[in-house]
Amino acid sequence: MTTTANVQAEPSVSFSPLQAAGRDHLWMHFSRMAPFQQRPMRIIDHADGVNLFDDRGQRILDGLSGLFVVQVGHGRDELAEAAAKQAKKLAYFPAWGIATEPVIELADRLAAAAPGSLNRVFFTSGGGEAVETAWKVAKQYFKLTGKPMKHKVISRTAAYHGTTQGALAITGLPAMKQAFEPLTPGGFRAANTDFFRAPEHGDDLVAFGLWAANRIEEAILQEGPDTVAAVVLEPVQNSGGCFVPPPGYFQRVREICDKYDVLLVSDEVICAFGRHGTTFACEKFGYEPDIITCAKGMSSGYGPIGAMIANERIMEPFLQGTNFFPHGYTFGGHPVSAAVSLVNLDIFEREGLNQRVLDNEAAFGSTLSKLLDLPIVGDVRGDGYFWGIELVKDKASKQSFDAAEREFLIKQYLPGALMDNGLYCRPDDRVNPVIQLAPPLISGQAEFDEIEQIVRATLQDVQALL
Ligand code: PLP
Repeated sequence: MTTTANVQAEPSVSFSPLQAAGRDHLWMHFSRMAPFQQRPMRIIDHADGVNLFDDRGQRILDGLSGLFVVQVGHGRDELAEAAAKQAKKLAYFPAWGIATEPVIELADRLAAAAPGSLNRVFFTSGGGEAVETAWKVAKQYFKLTGKPMKHKVISRTAAYHGTTQGALAITGLPAMKQAFEPLTPGGFRAANTDFFRAPEHGDDLVAFGLWAANRIEEAILQEGPDTVAAVVLEPVQNSGGCFVPPPGYFQRVREICDKYDVLLVSDEVICAFGRHGTTFACEKFGYEPDIITCAKGMSSGYGPIGAMIANERIMEPFLQGTNFFPHGYTFGGHPVSAAVSLVNLDIFEREGLNQRVLDNEAAFGSTLSKLLDLPIVGDVRGDGYFWGIELVKDKASKQSFDAAEREFLIKQYLPGALMDNGLYCRPDDRVNPVIQLAPPLISGQAEFDEIEQIVRATLQDVQALL
């Protein structure tokens, strides 16, 4: 097919045939496409362990596990072989009324790992679909149990929960939604747990946590408890840069949900599968949700898969008579992805990856905290192998950067400079500018040190330019 691109490359810039094909035909996600018309895109060619290798042969440390996905590291023969074995035996069959062996086994395994009575696993192809599924099941559950008005969802400001129109309505990032309004009605927001910029109780984490949890009660009361179906929260909020729950926060949220008969959904698309040192992060933070949504690390990215895991209470009306959940996906519960996920979970157990994260999380945090000596680093926060570094213009006042400075820092300078310096991670300014880090769970002190050194050198360079 001929290209219709009307922007011609500068004559001095040379594109390989692959880069030219990418320029002309590949539409990348969440990416400005204009720059790729002028400058060749970087292509990752292969990966091994914690390292990525681009098509020029540069080694780049994977400080983000791809996209919070590759928990067990890259290049695992065992996972590739599990995929090949299942593809040869039975590559595809839907989970629509007839089952396959790996899908049953994986459901059984996830139910065993999930807390309390979260025993019912509905597979999806990814995280956004899992969130979408959770909202739909919550609405139908209340219709089936005599509370048909309950349909709204409370989530937190700045939180990201996916891009399908329902999941996007739960997402608390206005700029990400603007182009697609009006979205599914029924999404409402409460405060998040950004302690660094706490509007109240900035000197008392526990009081701040109680305050933030009570904002959820306030939102439920404002909307009317009879209309609210679910509260959707990440254990550690990604957008904004790793907002960790203060002690007591989730316990208070659980109490509030029980009081108003609202389902608590723990969106663990990032946080599950060892990111915080436990299979499900609600275990780490000591609460039992009604629903868990998960994806990413379930297969470590060796196959696309996600899940909505519901408790027995939610399942109960769906076990009656002719009731059913009219919802599903062609690739939800793909046998190859399920087979790969089972072996992925075997690797977790055999190599003790959860324990490894628990053993090393403090060291990761203290290594990154060395960066606090730089004037541009305002805060280092996180948990497990999931950390954010907030960049500030003025440390004393916590003043952030203006729009033009953010454009330079986050959009133009840092992503390329960090990669050139050998680190793939995520500079992000969906709220205030942050650098996010979530390396594969096989990482240790050597990788923490390398991350710290590359971030330090890159930030020193950029400080000189600001
Ligand atoms: N929920 C959370 C908390 C996420 O972080 C993400 C993606 O990063 C999603 C949902 C959407 O997942 P996916 O991109 O697999 O649709």
